[in-house]
Amino acid sequence: MIGAGSIGSHVAFRLLEQGAEVELLDASEPGRGTSSSSIAWLSSYPQMSWREEPGRAKLRAGVHGMFERLQLEVPGDYVHWSGTLMWGYRHEREELQRSAAVVREKGIDVRELSADEARALAPGLRLLDDEVVFNETGSGWVDGPAVVRALVASIESRGGRVRRDAQVVGFERAGERLVAARLQDGTRVEGDVFVNAAGSWASHIAAMADLAIPLDLIPGRLVYTQPIATVTHVINGPEWCARPDPSGGLAVHWRGGPQDATHGANARSAQELVDEIATALPELAGTAPVRSSIGIRAIPPGGPVVGAVPWLRNLYFTVSHGGIGWGPMWGWMAARELLGGEDVWELSAMRPERFYLEPIAIGRYADDVEQVAR
Ligand SMILES: Cc1cc2nc3c(=O)[nH]c(=O)nc-3n(C[C@H](O)[C@H](O)[C@H](O)COP(=O)(O)OP(=O)(O)OC[C@H]3O[C@@H](n4cnc5c(N)ncnc54)[C@H](O)[C@@H]3O)c2cc1C
Repeated sequence: MIGAGSIGSHVAFRLLEQGAEVELLDASEPGRGTSSSSIAWLSSYPQMSWREEPGRAKLRAGVHGMFERLQLEVPGDYVHWSGTLMWGYRHEREELQRSAAVVREKGIDVRELSADEARALAPGLRLLDDEVVFNETGSGWVDGPAVVRALVASIESRGGRVRRDAQVVGFERAGERLVAARLQDGTRVEGDVFVNAAGSWASHIAAMADLAIPLDLIPGRLVYTQPIATVTHVINGPEWCARPDPSGGLAVHWRGGPQDATHGANARSAQELVDEIATALPELAGTAPVRSSIGIRAIPPGGPVVGAVPWLRNLYFTVSHGGIGWGPMWGWMAARELLGGEDVWELSAMRPERFYLEPIAIGRYADDVEQVAR
């Protein structure tokens, strides 16, 4: 297992728990990558209203249940079912109502609150009477570093090996199989199967095996506020998302207004972000941020990459955005495919060979597309 972030730790744990012999390698310390700098929100609203390819939509419905099961298997205080307040402007009401109706039909408990009901749940949030708030009760957040710590402890206690400062720098190959990973100190680690869970470094691991797997890398700033007593839910507002943090403050990501359909917007500085959110959370007015960090989102074009290419069957990919929420799912999928020999149909749109089958869209020269656009 290459990479001990959220995804690699979940996959290593599940493979081990299902009977495999597992060695988890990390270039530094487990949990110090993107998983340490994530909003790590667990929610079905609005996600379950999105139009998704059928495999992913089917799997999404099982994500929360996997965390409930994990809590019984792996001790630790890493999942917080705090509920979410989805807060929006008046002009967003219709869209929020529409998506609430869709997810409610799929069994998700989401209810529109009056401003007074919302103020009672989050007394620190300054709401205008015409703003809208929806409450999704069965949602919450994950403490990324804590879940990795808990999984790694459980892996070690079950006899799995976890190697820190073990950076994979290449592979040894025999025909159509990888036989060993080479570490930076010259050590060889042999294996029947290698799993690429290296997050934003996953393209490099792929390249070491002569595979070209693209990834978009989108940095996101997370700012940690001073302790705040009046917010206990995840708050997903029109421009920022905040969740309680184990430090007692909030972890906040400012992502731009509703017009910004893609990831990418960020506050210029941590102080600017605190000043901005203090207009809605007056308890934070005049306070300084405690710290700020930047997580690099690894976003494979077209969605998660799960599985292996047919011409190199023993390099299995588990690379996705949303890797805090989806981590347990990729663990179960890897166990079913690598240990159970199944070909899980829900993963069929996520296979890495899709990058080799794409029709050529841009013409003979890369700059054709620029010429057409202008
Ligand atoms: C601002 C922000 C908000 C987010 N919000 C959410 C959210 O609400 N919900 C959600 O589910 N997700 C969210 N995400 C995404 C989520 O955090 C990531 O998808 C997840 O953390 C990725 O986990 P990972 O294990 O793939 O990667 P990482 O945590 O980065 O782990 C990869 C590991 O691989 C190791 N590694 C790299 N190269 C090598 C090598 N050569 N050899 C050995 N080891 C190596 C690294 O040291 C690292 O520990 C958010 C991300 C950001 C930045």
